[in-house]
Amino acid sequence: MELINGKEVAKKVRKDLKSEVIKLKENGINPKLAVIMVGNDPGSTVYVRNKSKACQKVGIEFEEFLYDENLSESELLDVIKKLNEDSSINGILLQSPVPKHIDINKAFRTIAPEKDVDGFNPVNVGNLTIGEDAFISCTPYGVIRMFEEYNIELEGKNAVILGRSNIVGKPMIQCMLNKNATVTVCHSRTNNIEEITKKADIIISAIGKPKFLKENMVKDGAVVIDVGINRLDDGSIVGDVDFDEVSKKASYITPVPGGVGPMTIAMLLNNVVKATKIQTK
Ligand code: NAP
Repeated sequence: MELINGKEVAKKVRKDLKSEVIKLKENGINPKLAVIMVGNDPGSTVYVRNKSKACQKVGIEFEEFLYDENLSESELLDVIKKLNEDSSINGILLQSPVPKHIDINKAFRTIAPEKDVDGFNPVNVGNLTIGEDAFISCTPYGVIRMFEEYNIELEGKNAVILGRSNIVGKPMIQCMLNKNATVTVCHSRTNNIEEITKKADIIISAIGKPKFLKENMVKDGAVVIDVGINRLDDGSIVGDVDFDEVSKKASYITPVPGGVGPMTIAMLLNNVVKATKIQTK
């Protein structure tokens, strides 16, 4: 079994980006990410802080736009529109969750596609689907980058994705299809999941259920990618995969923490640099 070290791959991605940012700055271009947060969800606060630190590491400017939970939907849309118009901002990210009175899809649709570094605007979702250049949702993109780094062949492989959310599962399907894998998707209404996962060459789990994927659900030699981040009552963080058991069978496996998480942030930085280059030609 080989451990897929997301921290190390993320470091490598950041190193390359840092050189690119230096070159951009030599040409008077300063990549900048705007992060909007509405309300004070404790998880989001940590994620935003981590994104800010990561931007700092590669020289990307970072500005937070923090609003209390009473911000109305139209006020939020106005904030986004202003950032769309602001040429000093290259990437816009709306941290989820947002309060219930805000339609998050409407907000994502309002972010200019060329600044949509999370890849959640339907224009980018659509471009990914039809195989055109697109901003790809950072978590699936990070998973693909890890496969590349470890030379894990995807073509013709039986890939099973657990979860069908708009931010992870669905874009993951498209990314795997684009790499010529044969893709099966499971969700909360899927019957006999273990019969499906047992046939998989590659399992990508993004359901948010601690230690859901057990050893008896995985075939020998499978590649197992654990997207889940679950906090247990004792404060520890575990993935969707029962790592101790499944790692005995897997050929490659990602740990939690230190697997997909760092890659998600690295690919966000990648998307900000890409957005900057597109906008400044
Ligand atoms: P989500 O929006 O809650 O979606 C969960 C998906 O899992 C849904 O499609 C749901 O099915 C499915 N599901 C739930 N219980 C299931 C079960 N028992 N069997 C099969 N499928 C089941 O979650 P998300 O935003 O995609 O996130 C998933 C996990 O990834 C969470 O732990 C989250 O914290 C983590 N995450 C990690 C990163 C990272 O950087 N590592 C990034 C994003 C998310 P239905 O559609 O039928 O409801």
